[in-house]
Parts: sequence; C-alpha cells; structure tokens
Amino acid sequence: MTVRLRVAVVYPDLLGTYGDGGNGLILAQRARWRGIEAELLAAPSDVALPEADIYCLGGGEDGPQVRAARSLIDDATLARRVSAGAVVLAVCAGYQIVGRSYPGADGVAHEGVGLLDIDTAKGTGARAVGEVVAETVAGSSVSLPLLTGFENHGGCTTLGASAAPLAQVIRGVGNGDGSGTEGAVCGRVLGTYLHGPVLARNPALADLLLAWALNAEPSTLAPLEADDSAAALRDERLAAATPHRRLRRRRRQHQ
Ligand code: GLN
Repeated sequence: MTVRLRVAVVYPDLLGTYGDGGNGLILAQRARWRGIEAELLAAPSDVALPEADIYCLGGGEDGPQVRAARSLIDDATLARRVSAGAVVLAVCAGYQIVGRSYPGADGVAHEGVGLLDIDTAKGTGARAVGEVVAETVAGSSVSLPLLTGFENHGGCTTLGASAAPLAQVIRGVGNGDGSGTEGAVCGRVLGTYLHGPVLARNPALADLLLAWALNAEPSTLAPLEADDSAAALRDERLAAATPHRRLRRRRRQHQ
C-alpha cells in the first residue's frame, strides 16, 4: 500500500540546532490523528534526498548551512519535487538557503536553492534574538491566527517581486530589512524565521501546510483534541511576548 503523505526532515545533521525537526513530527502526527497514513523520513545529508510530499528544513549555524545548500543544489531532488507540487517549510537557516542568495560565515554571498524569491545578507546591527509575534496580512493568500515563535539570526532577508511576506511583525525583528515583514511565501514554499518549533506553537500553520499537501481546504481538516494544550502554550507565549496594553489588545482581537 502506498503511504498517502511522506514528510521529510531535511538534513537534521546540519540543520538540527534549534529543534525544528519537531515540525516534521507534528505534521506526520496531525495527519495520523485524522486517519491519514503518514510516514516521517529523516533525511541525513550523506544520502540522496528521499521523495516526499512535505520537506521541513530547520535552522543551523553559518558553516553547516553552506554545506546544506550545496548538497541540496547538487542533489536537485528538492527543486524537482517542488516543481511537482511538494510543500516546503523552511525555518531560519533553511529559509535563507532556499532563497536566491545567502551569506556564509564571512558574509560573502552564496548561491541558494532558488525556490523562494528572497536574498539574505549579513545584518550590520545586533543579532536578532528573542520572541516574535506576527500577524498575517488581511487579503493575503495566507490567513492565520497570530504567529508566535522565537528568532535567533544574524541575516536580513529582502523579498523579491514574486515572494509575498508571510506576516507583519508586531514584536521582534523577522526579515529585518526595514519592511517590518516576517517570512515569505511563494506557491507552496513557505519560509519563516520562527523557531519553537513553529508548528508546535502554531497548529493552524501546520494544518495549512497539510492542506496544501493533501490538495484540501484547511477547513476540511477535523479539529484535534491535542490542540487544547497547544492553545495553552500559545496563550502563555503570546502573553509573555505582548505584555503591553496595546499589544494585549491586538492579541484579543485575534482570539
Ligand atoms: N546562520 C543563520 C543566521 O545567523 C541562521 C541562524 C539560524 O538558523 N537560527 O542568520
């Protein structure tokens, strides 16, 4: 019998620093809880990338990030699968390397995988570290409850004409290019600076990615009991990250 959904965690040996591999686990488990057969594939960098329906890339240090990008370009599976409709969730270093260019440890620009119309350069100010709260923009193709996560990056990302921002930052830095945006979306490739893992803190984002992969509307995915504890985590993190009156009001508007 063929598995309906294959979720690959890409290069956990290079892009595993921030626990973003949890995103793959969450996607596979949310599918299984709904009776959808799902396979979780760990895809180490020393073997060919497997065929999958969703690819999750995580954060990592500057050096391993360069190796990951080089392998993904040489392997070519990821670009081919994206052309065939596969979904990509790329976080931080993963986000940067699926773009057109990103900086190495010395700040010199390297070629990215080219799946997102973004360019990342080394920032000149302090590293962006801390909690992030962001809201998806009304009228954009992605509409989600407030996004929560944490960031830790030195790169600043600029979006090109064919990439749409994922969200607008309420707290934190996000893309850090002066636009106040966070993340980028191009077709079924979604990049973000949010760790957490981001899908543990934002189950609606997990379901959006599942819906894309299953060619379904997110509203057709049954609610999950486990989301009560996810809601408690969200409440706690959003309250900690938006202590001021103005931000508290914004938070309530999204409830
Ligand atoms: N090395 C990249 C940067 O500092 C990505 C960091 C990360 O993945 N958290 O910008």
